[in-house]
Amino acid sequence: MEVEYQHTLAREISLSGVGLHTGCHATVTIAPAPANAGFSFVLADGSRVPATPDAVRSTVRCTRLGSATAAVNTVEHVLAALLGMDVDNAQIVVDGEEIPIMDGSALPFAQAIAEAGRREQRVPRRMLHLRAPFWRRDGDKVLVCVPAPRFKVNFFVAFPPPVGNQFFESQPLTPDYFLREIAPNRTFGFRSEVETLYSQGLARGGSLDNAVVIDRDGYLGPLRFPDEIVRHKVLDLIGDFALLGSYPCCEVIALKSGHALHVAAARELRAPLAAAASAR
Ligand SMILES: [Zn+2]
Repeated sequence: MEVEYQHTLAREISLSGVGLHTGCHATVTIAPAPANAGFSFVLADGSRVPATPDAVRSTVRCTRLGSATAAVNTVEHVLAALLGMDVDNAQIVVDGEEIPIMDGSALPFAQAIAEAGRREQRVPRRMLHLRAPFWRRDGDKVLVCVPAPRFKVNFFVAFPPPVGNQFFESQPLTPDYFLREIAPNRTFGFRSEVETLYSQGLARGGSLDNAVVIDRDGYLGPLRFPDEIVRHKVLDLIGDFALLGSYPCCEVIALKSGHALHVAAARELRAPLAAAASAR
């Protein structure tokens, strides 16, 4: 079998904008990183945090990572773009408390990565191979992972109208497929929840420019895909699985799951790898 090598970015890229939850302006710079470095964040105070499940501080509405002294919100879209574009190693420097939401999707990150290009590193890619199917359940949320040659994500969501039941079956992920079918799908929220989110200090930077807003009678603004909601859930799951630190050789079937279940699964899937690494 042909060896698959690790990749990093060919050059550094920078993007700026407001954070969805804080509403604050921030710049994120994604820089090349050495082989086996994986993904890591350099936070506003200069502290460093590896993108691992153990660094997750919160999964309420977004995935928040933290060091001992600082934290960063909404890491899932930039991480999804890196894993989706087949990048293994990158350093993400952010000068604020939240990754800019951009247009609410992973497209600006994925396009910037595509424009910068990838550089091959002559070290074999770290792969997560499952010995048997893995599944976790939390109430009516279910996550099943079965061994597969390429990462693939199928998702089922059930929301009140107008979303209703949506099922999306992805093709095995390649950068082209990710860029075209997954990256453009925007984050979403229900109009009825806006007041509550505001009172919790969330969604301060949210607008129709960076989110699909769902009202009882329909969507406020045009959709990019008729099933944009479930496709965005696929995008979020890819971002959370980037915390694995290795390429997921599995097909995922997710039923109504969210960041909390995805991160819990990533922690369990990663555990045997971490143990094997420390025994070496
Ligand atoms: Zn999202």
